Formats: sequence, structure tokens, C-alpha cells
Amino acid sequence: MAVKHTPTDEVHIGTKGGKTGCGFNTTENPSHWVTTSESITCAKNGCKN
Ligand SMILES: [Zn+2]
Repeated sequence: MAVKHTPTDEVHIGTKGGKTGCGFNTTENPSHWVTTSESITCAKNGCKN
């Protein structure tokens, strides 16, 4: 699963309502996060392999 942070257009591993692979909490600004099937663009540890 992947979630996109719409203000930055960055795609992270994770699910809306949880934490991203790199540790963002998607519940803090839920309107900024959308579930997506796009490939991961975040380069931080936990999102990139
Ligand atoms: Zn990330």
C-alpha cells in the first residue's frame, strides 16, 4: 500500500490512518494524505527499500 502526501506530491509506503514507512503520522493532517497506487517516491529510510 502507498499513501501520497498531497502538499509535497511525495508517495510513501503506508496506509491512510496509520504511519508511513518513514514515520509520518497520517492522522495528524488527514486531509493531506490520499491512498494511491503510484510507486513510492519518498527516499527516506523505511519507505525506500
Ligand atoms: Zn516516506
